[in-house]
Amino acid sequence: MAKDYYKILGVDRNASAEEVKKAFRQLARKYHPDANPENKKEAEERFKEISEAYEVLSDPQKKSMYDRTGQVNFGGDGSNFRWEDFTHFTDFEDIFSRIFGSFGNGSMFTSARNEGPDLDLAVRVRIDLEDAYYGRKQTIKYRRNVPCTTCNGTGSKDGVLTTCSTCGGTGQERVVQGQGFFNMVTIITCRTCGGRGKIPRVVCPVCHGVGSVSATESLEVQIPKGAVNNLKIRFKGRGQSLYGRTGDLFVVLQVENGSTLERDGDDIIVEETLSFPDVALGAERDVKIFNERVHLKVPPGTQPGEVVKVKGAGFPRFKGSGNGDLLVKVRVEVPKHLSSSQKELLEQLKGDLDKKRFWQK
Ligand SMILES: [Zn+2]
Ligand SMILES: [Zn+2]
Repeated sequence: MAKDYYKILGVDRNASAEEVKKAFRQLARKYHPDANPENKKEAEERFKEISEAYEVLSDPQKKSMYDRTGQVNFGGDGSNFRWEDFTHFTDFEDIFSRIFGSFGNGSMFTSARNEGPDLDLAVRVRIDLEDAYYGRKQTIKYRRNVPCTTCNGTGSKDGVLTTCSTCGGTGQERVVQGQGFFNMVTIITCRTCGGRGKIPRVVCPVCHGVGSVSATESLEVQIPKGAVNNLKIRFKGRGQSLYGRTGDLFVVLQVENGSTLERDGDDIIVEETLSFPDVALGAERDVKIFNERVHLKVPPGTQPGEVVKVKGAGFPRFKGSGNGDLLVKVRVEVPKHLSSSQKELLEQLKGDLDKKRFWQK
């Protein structure tokens, strides 16, 4: 007797794909065996049944066959549904990862990967703020795997490679994992040949068949003017090498500030200490920014803490042209020791100011 998949999922014959999915999600949560430790066996059966119903009703071809004939041939040895026929594991990792938690890391859902391991490398390089200001060339040293010269990167002593018997040359391995009621087939990268599909007939004695050896590399890096912290610079083909494939190197700049000036985006912030007459009367100064002299004009009557801006004298812009601004925070120094003539001058000034303040009230 044919199963009523619509009834199993509790949906209408005209239910939309979204409704079918929603119904399955709800039932899968309700009946997954971990949620039913009391009657695990029953939950397992129910869970398999709703998964079967979902497999059919979510697949237009299977659904149309089912609607016409009232059954679906799943293809395997019988026509019955097996877990291998279920194609929606990845859609429901949140549900299934709890069920398969004991397999760890959701490795259950590893699909076939032909691209092999990630061959890109990242190297962090510390530079000083001054290097970022001027833009400099810097030579870095790092380690990477380079093709073995003894075997020309083949991993084979005599250059001969044979087909991997584990995967038959496909580079993929089928792993059957069983956990209670589940028997799942997962396709992973072949562990014998690393996805290459071939293995050396005689292993190269230098690289032990890997085809590459570790080497210290030296590379000249052009640090761009205005480089920002965590800037990534890509060097194509300077990453790890494996069986004729080579990844990229990413140089990540870590900009460190060992100076007294502060960088704020494209602006530079410095402090400048001036005397009372300087700020009262106005003054001109040269401010040192790394090896540059920047001319600063302090207008008369500048207050302590006020910021005087010098346009275009800041950090070179990494994006766009020109420079940001130089922002000079003004500090006013009060003299601690005065000569008698200086005292006299200040007394005179004080007298004038007091008089002025008196008449202002
Ligand atoms: Zn293999
Ligand atoms: Zn070798």
